Amino acid sequence: MECAICFDPLLESERLPLPCRCTVPYCLGCWDRALASSFNSAGHARCPSCRRPVRVDFDPGDEDGPARGRLIFSAETGDGSSAEDAVSKEGVVNRLAEQAAPLMTRLLRRFGERHSSLRAIAEAPSEALRGRSIRELKAWLKEVGGSDSGLLEKADLIDALIAKAGGGMIASRVVAATEGGGEGCPPLCVCGGALERLTGRARMRQLLIEQHGVRESANIDALLDHAADRLPSSVICDLCDTQLSPLQPVYTCANGDATILHPTTYDVCEVCFVRYAVEGLGDEALATERQLLYEEEEIEAQEEVEAQESGGRGEAARGALEG
Ligand SMILES: [Zn+2]
Ligand SMILES: [Zn+2]
Ligand SMILES: [Zn+2]
Ligand SMILES: [Zn+2]
Repeated sequence: MECAICFDPLLESERLPLPCRCTVPYCLGCWDRALASSFNSAGHARCPSCRRPVRVDFDPGDEDGPARGRLIFSAETGDGSSAEDAVSKEGVVNRLAEQAAPLMTRLLRRFGERHSSLRAIAEAPSEALRGRSIRELKAWLKEVGGSDSGLLEKADLIDALIAKAGGGMIASRVVAATEGGGEGCPPLCVCGGALERLTGRARMRQLLIEQHGVRESANIDALLDHAADRLPSSVICDLCDTQLSPLQPVYTCANGDATILHPTTYDVCEVCFVRYAVEGLGDEALATERQLLYEEEEIEAQEEVEAQESGGRGEAARGALEG
């Protein structure tokens, strides 16, 4: 027997039990990709042979068990065509993210346990930063929205970076830069894929190209330069449901939208990463502090825009009065 899509040989035990009456053999990977693809193109997960709608749930496993979950497929009641059958796309995505969250926090906790350097760096960030080059420190400072102007000494750069990013965030940055190829690194996603740490800007760039069809060109950089500091990005953390600022780094799943578990991609913000991977260090308070700071920056930027707009209206009104 072989999978009807990839033609890989299938043992009877590997053959996926289907929620419909089809007897076509599929492997789990192909069935999963087929559901994600129909969900993304037509708004509903459907069997690739009979087109019946399939309901998908996720079992995140036990707290003490292996750090793996399981997709559960069942027949969606109704045929998905009448109004009461309509399951909103957003509703399905949110339900699955909620069902997967306990596994994600467990994966992050276990990642933190395996990478003791995370906690060590979070506790003493300046020591870890002393080993980095001035060029790297300047680049990292820029990533978090800081400026290196007037900072001549390495120690000044380190102080500025710690004030801007905090120990937990610096630990995340250093571990991603140094243990990239190490054992058990990067952290795993709920779907089993690898979570890659991207700057907020790199993630926005990826979304513009892959999801909004913007062609890769110098224009994207111009767009990001112009908008990155004031527009909230379209990246939403699947754990805390927060819309992220382009200044916030994010752990994003390399499987993209190719699994029905997260058919609109999967992101974990760095605040959540620190909250669970470097738990119990006062970093939760620190993370909250960072979150508030990002929000403050956004509010300030928004107020600036509004002030400019109302200033413009004021002038127009005066112009009308004088005229
Ligand atoms: Zn297959
Ligand atoms: Zn079927
Ligand atoms: Zn994933
Ligand atoms: Zn988050």
